[in-house]
Formats: sequence, structure tokens, C-alpha cells
Amino acid sequence: MSGMTEVLKTHVLVVGGGPGGYVAAIRAGQLGLDTILVEGDTLGGTCLIRGCIPSKALIHAAEKFAGMAKANGDKGSLGIRLSAPPAIDLAETVRWKDGITAKLNGGVAALLKKAKVKTVAGWAKFSDAKTCSVETKDGPVTITAEHVILAQGSVPVELPILPFGGNVISSTEALSLDSVPKRLVVIGAGYIGLELGSAFRKLGSDVTVIEALDRILPLYDEQLSTPVRHSLEKAGVTMHLQASALGLDASGAVRAKDKDGKEFTVPADKVLVTVGRKPRTEGWGLEAMAVDMDGRFVKVDDQCRTSMRNVWAIGDLVGEPMLAHKASAQGEMVAEIIAGHRRHFTPAGIPAVCFTDPEIVSIGLSPAEAEAQGIEIVTGQFPYMANGRALTLEAEKEGGFVRVVARKIDHRIVGIQAVGSHVSELSGEFSLALEMGAVLEDLAGTIHAHPTLSEAFHEGALKALGHAIHI
Ligand SMILES: Cc1cc2nc3c(=O)[nH]c(=O)nc-3n(C[C@H](O)[C@H](O)[C@H](O)COP(=O)(O)OP(=O)(O)OC[C@H]3O[C@@H](n4cnc5c(N)ncnc54)[C@H](O)[C@@H]3O)c2cc1C
Repeated sequence: MSGMTEVLKTHVLVVGGGPGGYVAAIRAGQLGLDTILVEGDTLGGTCLIRGCIPSKALIHAAEKFAGMAKANGDKGSLGIRLSAPPAIDLAETVRWKDGITAKLNGGVAALLKKAKVKTVAGWAKFSDAKTCSVETKDGPVTITAEHVILAQGSVPVELPILPFGGNVISSTEALSLDSVPKRLVVIGAGYIGLELGSAFRKLGSDVTVIEALDRILPLYDEQLSTPVRHSLEKAGVTMHLQASALGLDASGAVRAKDKDGKEFTVPADKVLVTVGRKPRTEGWGLEAMAVDMDGRFVKVDDQCRTSMRNVWAIGDLVGEPMLAHKASAQGEMVAEIIAGHRRHFTPAGIPAVCFTDPEIVSIGLSPAEAEAQGIEIVTGQFPYMANGRALTLEAEKEGGFVRVVARKIDHRIVGIQAVGSHVSELSGEFSLALEMGAVLEDLAGTIHAHPTLSEAFHEGALKALGHAIHI
């Protein structure tokens, strides 16, 4: 075999095995399309291997650890006492996390096989829009396809003044550390930096956040981000807003300047740079494909068609929001369009969840966004403080709430936002309400189980109608 180039022809070629690509390939396989998936690293992509899943695993471990640390001598806790502080072996935690990602990776491989998708392990490089070559461990393979789905995803943005390497790490390395850094400096207060920063704070790191803007989580409205800021402050995270990192000094401390241009340094054992992610558009022959770009992203229409016939692109490669569920939804749609279904990517909303403590969910329009579009609205906001289940979960202390935004004229729901412990688990109901075009009366007329946090959603709708019961 070696020396010889294997030539494969297929109906659908998917490049990238993240939540965009692997879902597209499984769906194409289910629809009976002859499909090949090429993945250069690990099936599962950023999301399953070094993103969503491992970060949530670390957050869960940190939460457990913090709960135990609190029980060590704290009179204010639930009557649970530990007589010694808990200890953490982060290397073991990381092995547990790696076990989860390995399980998911194996699961994706099995699902692809079941859908009769052929997988090729190696990095695809395109020579023209429909042909790529892959160096596999068994030798070179050339693949030609009638349809190509690009799903190469994204990579962390590097700061030229703080290039990755040594103690300067991206989220990928932060999820595989073998010990808890004593002093962690996080550059960038978006959701990835704050999710990881709060987890390490709970595990005992001294955490300092440096953010150029004047507030954390700039993609969420301030009412949602404020409880997170308070909880970070309460946990002892130092925050420098309107400050920018300048580099490292000789001792490895981060040099930065504040809004007045005054320089300061923050000692650091690890510097986690989370200033965003960028589409992976280099190194695989995009330039040979002659597809149009939209800024740094590959340009697509509402069916994820690129400017080149039968070349499709999905997920982080094509734009915001760079979220796993958006990538998957696009992947599923493209497979169906190739199979002849009529589909368009026009969701009523794409939920965004921030797994900080407390968590944030936002879908559809915030009150300010609705008003900016000239929509007359009514809103109903219901506090966790008045929800029994939140009290039993100690979740009310952070000032959590659920807010429903509806059109005044017909009560059609246009947006839902929430902040509080476990609100991520309410996001499915929020999405369903928005996607099905629910009106406030639909929510009001739906019996929500007691005692659950979802009652706060029900009450939010009642409040917007002017007759909340528990407030
Ligand atoms: C720390 C962190 C936490 C996150 N948390 C969340 C979250 O909670 N919720 C959420 O929705 N999103 C989250 N995300 C974002 C989410 O991971 C991405 O939006 C999602 O993975 C995008 O999917 P994708 O399929 O477009 O690309 P990716 O998941 O990036 O997959 C692309 C794949 O393509 C492969 N590839 C690239 N080029 C080639 C080539 N030439 N040949 C072969 N293979 C190639 C790569 O190896 C990779 O496996 C998080 C990201 C990070 C980093």
C-alpha cells in the first residue's frame, strides 16, 4: 500500500469531526448518502474533547470541592461538617475528565459506523473545491466528492504580546493541568475565561481577571452579568476591568496597564489567555477552493451554501454564535438539503448558556434589543428568591431570576433570559417556547411541576400578564 495513493470517490465528504461535522455525517449516512468524514485530530472536535464537555466536567468537580471546603468548619452551611479540609489531586480529576471525553469519542465513532459513514483519520488538504488529499498512517488518500461540507471549526486567538507556550496557556491546556496553579491570571472575561477562572478559584487558585472592556461577559446584558460579577467578587476573584495586558516581566508576572495608562504587575504561575476564538481557515487549502469570505469567516447563505456550487460550510467556521448546538443544527440541515429536503437555517433563536456560578441563559431578544427594533414589549421577571426549589438548592442568594420578554400587541414571546444556579437546564423549555411561537397565555396555561426552578418561568409569564401568584 505504501507509496500508492488510494483514490476514494464519495457523494458527501465532510471535513472536521466536531459537533458540526460528525452530526452532518451521521445524518447524511442515515439518509442513505455515501459519506466520508475526515478528522485530523480526535472525533468529537473542540466541543467533546477540549471545550464544552471537559470544561463542564472541571466545573462540576470544582463545585463539589468548594462545597466540601465550605463544610469545613463553616457554621453557615447545611449542618454538614467536615473536620478537615478536602484535598484535590487535579491529575486524577483530569483522568476522570479524560475518561468522559474518551467515552464520547468512542460513542461518536460507533454512531458514524452505524450510519455507514467511512471515517478517514488525517488532515485533509484541498487542491480544488471538490478534491482533497489526506496523509493517513497507511499512506496517502485522495478523496473526490460531489458535495463537500466544511466543518473545520475554530482555534483560540493568540495575543502577540503573550504567545501560547510555557506558562501562557489556552483553554485546551487549562483543561489538562496536573496541579492547581497557585496564582492564575485570566486574560479576557468572556464566558470561557470566567467559566474556567471560577472553577480554578473554587479549587483554591488565587485568580485575577484582566479585561479590556468596562464589564465582564459583554455579550450578555448587564442585569444578567451583574450576579456573576458579585459572585466572583465574593469568591475573592480580583478583577481589573478596562485594563490591558502588556506581556510578561522577567519573573513571569503579567504586566498590564489600567484605564489611566498606569502600569501594574500581577504575579502568575499560569496565564490563561481567553480573548476569543477564530475560525480555522488556514493550512488546509481554503485558498484553492475559491469560496467567498465574510470577514474572517467563510461566507454562507441561510442554507449554509458557500459561493462555490455544492460546497457547504457549517459551525464555527461560518460565524457567530460559535456554539456547538448551532454547528450541529447546521450540519443536520445541510445533510438533509443534499438529500433533497427543503430546509433553511432560520431558527427563532439560538440559546446561549454561560456555565459560570450562577449560570446565565439567553435566547431571543433582550428588552433593550426588542425596543431597539421598535417592538413594544411587556416583560415579566420572577426572582429565584420567591421560588421554593431555589431555596432548597441555596440558589436564591445570588440574586437569580427568569425574565420573559413578549410583544405587547399579541403577547408573543420574543426573548427569555435567566441567571441563577442550574438555569442551563431550563434552556430547553425556553427554546421550545420561542421556536413554537408561544404567547404568554400558553406559558400561563401550562402546569409546571412543583417544586422546580421551571416554576420561575411560569411565574415570569404570569407576571408579564399582571397576575403573578408568588410575588
Ligand atoms: C473551553 C471551551 C468551552 C466551550 N463551551 C461551550 C459550551 O458550553 N456550549 C457550546 O455550545 N459551545 C461551547 N464551546 C464552543 C464549541 O466547542 C464550538 O462552538 C464547537 O465545537 C464548534 O463545532 P464545529 O464542529 O464547528 O468545530 P470544532 O468542534 O472546532 O471541530 C472541528 C474539527 O475539525 C478538525 N479539522 C480541522 N481542520 C481539519 C482538516 N484540515 N482535516 C481534518 N480535520 C480537520 C479539527 O481537528 C476538529 O476536530 C466551547 C469552546 C471551548 C474552547
